Amino acid sequence: MQIAQNTVVSMHYRVATAEGEHVDASAPGEPLVYLHGHSGIIPGLENALTGKTAGDKVETEVAPAQGYGEYDQGLDLVVTMDAFPADARPHLQPGFRFRAEHPTKDGEQVIFTVAKVEGEQVFVSGNHPLAGKTLRFQVEIAEVRAATAEELSHGHVHGAGGHHH
Ligand code: ZN
Repeated sequence: MQIAQNTVVSMHYRVATAEGEHVDASAPGEPLVYLHGHSGIIPGLENALTGKTAGDKVETEVAPAQGYGEYDQGLDLVVTMDAFPADARPHLQPGFRFRAEHPTKDGEQVIFTVAKVEGEQVFVSGNHPLAGKTLRFQVEIAEVRAATAEELSHGHVHGAGGHHH
């Protein structure tokens, strides 16, 4: 079966930046499983996998616009502590995430991560850690199957590598 809209794909993968810095890889014997065509993986990788079948090896380079987005310096902000609700302030430590309005794009929500706190100043970034990076993927397709009706109605994979509920 070929990878197409509404197929469930199991794949082994390794990803590095264009500079060769290791980013991530699937664990041995534990392929990543996703529902194709439902934004489960970044668009550039999804496009490169369309039409492939089990056993295929795919190497592809994904530009930021088709990956985790361009780096937006407007999303690196310094916010004073009193801009946060009182009940959120104790949680403002590196790694804490919260959702807020995009500072310049009306109606767009952004996930911000606290980078550091210095006194009353909270340094936050709405950039994904991989924003602005060109990524090189090495993929081996392990299995391709049709999604079940239930998986399609939920928009995600059930069973091994997917949701259990
Ligand atoms: Zn489900």
